[in-house]
Amino acid sequence: MRQLLLAVLLLLIAAAQPPAEPLVRIGLNQNAATIAVRSAAPFTIAQHSTRAAIFSTAVAIDPAAEAAALKKADLQYRVTVELDDQTVLVVPAGSRVRIEPAGAPLEIDTRAYRGALEVFANARHTLTVVNELPLEEYLRGVVPNELSPVTFGQLEALKAQAVAARTYIDRNLGQFKNEGYDVCATDTCQVYFGARTEDPLATQAVTDTRGVVAIYEGKPINALYSSTCGGRTEDAQNIFNEKVPYLVSTLCEYKHPKPRPFSSSRSIASWKDGVLAVARVSTFSEAARFMGLPDRGEPPSLEPAALAAFVRQTFYPTVATSSDLSFVNEQGLLPAAGPVSLGDVLFRLIDRKNAFEWQQGVLTSWEGQRMRLIVNGQPKEFTVAPDALVYQRIGEERLPMKEGAWIGGELIDFRAEGDTIPLLIYRINFANPAADRYSRLATWQVHKTKAELDAAFASLAIGEFTDMRFLELGPSERPVTTEVVGTAARRTVPALRLRTLLGLRDSLFSFDIERNARGAVIGMSMFGRGWGHGVGMCQVGAYGMALDGATYEDILKKYYAGIELKKIY
Ligand SMILES: [Zn+2]
Repeated sequence: MRQLLLAVLLLLIAAAQPPAEPLVRIGLNQNAATIAVRSAAPFTIAQHSTRAAIFSTAVAIDPAAEAAALKKADLQYRVTVELDDQTVLVVPAGSRVRIEPAGAPLEIDTRAYRGALEVFANARHTLTVVNELPLEEYLRGVVPNELSPVTFGQLEALKAQAVAARTYIDRNLGQFKNEGYDVCATDTCQVYFGARTEDPLATQAVTDTRGVVAIYEGKPINALYSSTCGGRTEDAQNIFNEKVPYLVSTLCEYKHPKPRPFSSSRSIASWKDGVLAVARVSTFSEAARFMGLPDRGEPPSLEPAALAAFVRQTFYPTVATSSDLSFVNEQGLLPAAGPVSLGDVLFRLIDRKNAFEWQQGVLTSWEGQRMRLIVNGQPKEFTVAPDALVYQRIGEERLPMKEGAWIGGELIDFRAEGDTIPLLIYRINFANPAADRYSRLATWQVHKTKAELDAAFASLAIGEFTDMRFLELGPSERPVTTEVVGTAARRTVPALRLRTLLGLRDSLFSFDIERNARGAVIGMSMFGRGWGHGVGMCQVGAYGMALDGATYEDILKKYYAGIELKKIY
């Protein structure tokens, strides 16, 4: 009786326990000839203590077979392990070598991993390396690699990414069971680079959402995501040919952005004069000083030959040339014809020598005089000088603006002196309210020549490319099918295939075919938006939503229609 009670009690306790966090097995490499595992602390392989282990595959041949003609099937493979004291262990065929960490992470190449490693020979007679660790620890090495916390450092966006990544792994446990692991470590699955890529904000996003996955009708969803949808996400059906009720097109907009005004106390009509004013250059002497070159005074005259000799000697002292005039002309420092203006030559000098040190960034926020920009993928903060020269770029024009407004997402060319911006040129974000407007790739442009187009379409066997037209557009305006026409055949191409053939960042684009006077194709310009397949969560859109105050739940429910969040452990 007492035993029965105890058993019932134990059963009750077991039932009350929340389900445990699963262990995941990540295939780090499926095709290695050799693998070197290291650790700062000694680990153990078959009772041998070591700090390094080099795994290789070797062919084992029976000495009796030496004179015989062997068949491939007669070859036998073994795994050898060389330890740090040069001992070589031979691993029996078919067995797995498991390495448990002992006080320090296990390392392969430049990467370090939480949890255990397993190395074994696969059916291809190469080595497979598996990292086994608790799911949440795995996510710490995924989230910062799928959405950069440096560039897109918003906690709620990272939390949405953590839930999407957790949902992905939960749904795909056992996907590569036959290969001895659950999922791979590359973008074919989701990118996992281990412990050295962990980031405190991304880790917080993982721990804050521990165990939470997105479900639809009780099952974990196929949480697809892509970098930048370009304004509107696309139906899964139109890209992957499979209707999925929660992967449907949605406008990538959260709160309509409020334009924020700016003003400056100073304005100079011509931006070239503006550059010279900011550089404080009105003479050759000042230009030399601005560039950190010895001051050689002013040229004897603006007559081309004399000016060319002076400019070459002062600004290109190490260049040897037989004709200063042709050198200066090749550099584009003098106008092709007409009179020489002093300001023009000074501007061209600064421009050709990149002395103004232009930088480019995407505006993420603007408060009073402080401006945040993403520059080369890094968030940076600057103060805009009260008398900064501000220009709006429209085509090749740069219009002086004493006042105006920005909504975020503007592409800005600027000079910084310390953290102060004395001059900037912005391209207006055409009232684009998309939450993903902060992506540098929200809009892009690609040009291909006729030869490049023929090469791109070679696998279609259409002969020479002559024309292209979109047959059907999805809600995001991505072409679902496109007809590509050549001299020999015409083919209908689905969106992802077209994107791959043309090597584009996204299939969301419009195009202009350039033709010569006889109508023959000479090239094509493509004007696109977005980066990725455009289905599911838009990662930069998630960042934009988070900037505007959305929670991770708002973000996930926006991009995955009709889902619920559920804590599974
Ligand atoms: Zn988007």
